[in-house]
Amino acid sequence: MSVLSKPYFHDEAAAFAFVERIIWNGEPVCPHCGVVGRAYALKAVRSKPSKKNPEGVVRHGLKKCGACRSQFTVRIGTIFEESHLPLHKWLQAIYLMCSSKKGISAKQLERTLEVTYKTAWFLGHRIREAMRDTAMTPMGGEGMTLEVDETFLGRQATIFVSGKGWQQRRGTGDMRKIVTLVERGGRARSVHVPSLRKEDIVAVMAHADRASVLNTDQAQHYRRIGTEFAAHETVDHGRDEYVRYDGDVVTTTNTIEGYFSIFKRGMKGIYQHCSEKHLQRYLAEFDFRYSNRSATGCEDQERAMRAVLGVVGKRLTYRGGVNHRLQAASA
Ligand SMILES: [Zn+2]
Repeated sequence: MSVLSKPYFHDEAAAFAFVERIIWNGEPVCPHCGVVGRAYALKAVRSKPSKKNPEGVVRHGLKKCGACRSQFTVRIGTIFEESHLPLHKWLQAIYLMCSSKKGISAKQLERTLEVTYKTAWFLGHRIREAMRDTAMTPMGGEGMTLEVDETFLGRQATIFVSGKGWQQRRGTGDMRKIVTLVERGGRARSVHVPSLRKEDIVAVMAHADRASVLNTDQAQHYRRIGTEFAAHETVDHGRDEYVRYDGDVVTTTNTIEGYFSIFKRGMKGIYQHCSEKHLQRYLAEFDFRYSNRSATGCEDQERAMRAVLGVVGKRLTYRGGVNHRLQAASA
């Protein structure tokens, strides 16, 4: 049986059951009054008749709160609330985005899911929102190595030089600047920064646990702040040094170069262009897939379930740990 033949990708009732298991873990939370586990299912309720559906359509996943008597479904308070797209198509879109290493374009989603381009574009961005790490716990920690590096995206503006015509400007001034922190063997977090000036680097470094060992290249802007860490080791790319071994200690920024390589191939090959406004969302997408990659034991299906868990708004409270819910849902 292929992954794509799972019932929750085709059957709306199965899709609701799947999402409810992940988000509620058997105890529905009323989004109106916040009471946990007192709601009951309203079965066979149909929507009002319309011209298209004279008998109405079945309202899947409808619950009624035993405390405040209001009705709700698991979609309320999540990114699923913001569209009329059937839940099973949302799950298809989430799976596609989670299992494609370099991302999936809105055009591809449009063709595969048979939705309009507008819907596909909206879906992509809402799922990126679900992938965004809202906990923002510090990166690294005692005994961990944290690699930090920057990359540039886009092209320099062209300027007119008399006698030479239109020329591309040099340097990285107009390019978008991204600083990424990668825990060796762990998560990635990327920040689109306005510049590489001190205040911007300091702001990014607020994400880093100072008990970590910091690995960077020899860029000037990491020197002062590097002294705040347990240790700061650098490799000298200018002298062709990429890895240094000192007993068991490995100094390198190769892990982060690997991250940038996937990110750039995705941005060039799949997304092609993205406005400055949306860049941080694409970064969240690549961070999410990297932080939940198969090398850390997280395969496609589990990655998709973790993304589903990310759809939940912060105003609701839930019982049970994340791992417990994921196990229950995959059973
Ligand atoms: Zn209630």
